[in-house]
Amino acid sequence: MDFSGRVALITGGGNGIGRAAALGFARRGARVMVVDRDARGCEETVRLLREAGAEAGHAVADVTRAAEVRDYVAATMEAFGAIDCFFNNAGIEGRVAPLVDSDEENFDQVIAVNLKGVFLGLKHVLPVMLRQGRGAVVNTASTAAVQGSPGLSVYVASKHGVLGLTRTAAGEVARGGVRVNAVCPGPTATRMIESLERQGGNDPEQVGRRYRDTIPLGRYTTAEEVAGVVLFLCSDLAGGVTGAHYLVDGGRTATSASVR
Ligand code: NAD
Repeated sequence: MDFSGRVALITGGGNGIGRAAALGFARRGARVMVVDRDARGCEETVRLLREAGAEAGHAVADVTRAAEVRDYVAATMEAFGAIDCFFNNAGIEGRVAPLVDSDEENFDQVIAVNLKGVFLGLKHVLPVMLRQGRGAVVNTASTAAVQGSPGLSVYVASKHGVLGLTRTAAGEVARGGVRVNAVCPGPTATRMIESLERQGGNDPEQVGRRYRDTIPLGRYTTAEEVAGVVLFLCSDLAGGVTGAHYLVDGGRTATSASVR
């Protein structure tokens, strides 16, 4: 996979899967724009990108605010003049609670980041790609986009929504030379899974073990493994793939009934 001369824009690039993807793009020749609301995380990713020899910039932005989304798109165009790959990835896990105990504030927050943030990213990046006549988008969904997950109803709803946006946008822009796909990570070794392990008042070690027991590969997916699929979907190797979702979950969704 060669991204020489291409520009990759990544939200949630200040940590975890977004950072791993940023580095993956950079090591294959891309210029990279990192977007995150975490300024320190952004700066650290940019430092690592430059260390890897890449041209890189960052924009501190909250993906739930339309004006800030417009600004990060404008900043990317100003810095690099194009957006070839867009990894629409920022997300939060929200609070773990049964649906009946889940509060409205959590609902509004999770939907704002995971669904509205992805919607706004598409709304403002796709016109740029259509003007270019080329581009590839990967939205971060989750295995929670294809199955329920007790205690995470709002997160699950938001990620099901991401697949709906992915499929619909893919159909709308395909003739314009733009592809839109989704990646569906299972439990992945980032801050997010650590936060999920800590919630609910149980021993995080034990919760982690229980999670890993449901994964046929016997371990969490790494951020780099998720990034690998993202890079593939953005590359010319995936030129025939649009409107698709790819599971990167160590076999968990395919076999969950049998491994528990
Ligand atoms: P992470 O917490 O390491 O990274 C998420 C990043 O998104 C953080 O840098 C955070 O600052 C940023 N972010 C959050 N809200 C934002 C906002 N409003 N505006 C801008 N930036 C914001 O977690 P991660 O695991 O790398 O998560 C990346 C994506 O992967 C998310 O969409 C998440 O839902 C998804 N995912 C993660 C897992 C997992 O187990 N880690 C599993 C499935 C899906």
